[in-house]
Amino acid sequence: MSEISDRIAAIHERMNAACTRAGRDAASVDLLAVSKTFPAEAIREAFEAGQLLFGENKVQEVLAKAPELPSKLRWHLIGHLQSNKVRKILPLVDVVHSVDSLDLARDIQRIGGELGLFPKVYLEVNLAAECTKHGFKPAELREGGLEALYQLDRLHIQGLMCIPPFDPMPEKTRPYFIELRNLRDELEKLGGAPLPRLSMGMSHDFEVAIEEGATIVRVGSAIFGERTYQKA
Ligand SMILES: *Cc1c(COP(=O)(O)O)cnc(C)c1O
Repeated sequence: MSEISDRIAAIHERMNAACTRAGRDAASVDLLAVSKTFPAEAIREAFEAGQLLFGENKVQEVLAKAPELPSKLRWHLIGHLQSNKVRKILPLVDVVHSVDSLDLARDIQRIGGELGLFPKVYLEVNLAAECTKHGFKPAELREGGLEALYQLDRLHIQGLMCIPPFDPMPEKTRPYFIELRNLRDELEKLGGAPLPRLSMGMSHDFEVAIEEGATIVRVGSAIFGERTYQKA
């Protein structure tokens, strides 16, 4: 077995253990392998080990890698999406985790309509305004934002997504995961529609996220190794 397939197997074991601790069905949580910065060969290795869902944060990377890989592989966009790239990316990805403004949601509605697509999306929530640049503020969603989003009938809103400020101690992140789940419960009542999914948890804290209700965890370095970023 390759190193990547060993790591994926180990993560599934840890995911299952977290589900057991939380009294959840192991089938209720998906693993999104975050392959940003890694080459197509590494992704192919993961795919051959049975991994189906891959997350990228840049439109350019999906455009470059997707043609080199089997079409069975499913792509999710997890990074900030600029309006001028919506048309390019929608046909390639199953899910956009990073719908972070009403303007972007409206662009996806309009272009989805032109392309005949009904994109699945998560609403990215900014739970710590000072730490992250992108995302809806909870108050914005409560005070009219969610209502406006529900007018956009092309968008299949799956639920909420968050990227809490990094802390090496996973327990420090737990309050953010609880906050996202509580906000979800509140918005379900407010909007009168289910928001069944929570995209939360990364390599260092996915087990805590699962204990708090994550339905998809976004795991990169624990599968592919440490990333080295090229200087721009
Ligand atoms: C890079 C990234 C991840 C994965 O991070 P790791 O710490 O490598 O698991 C998850 N979510 C988002 C939005 C990312 O950009």
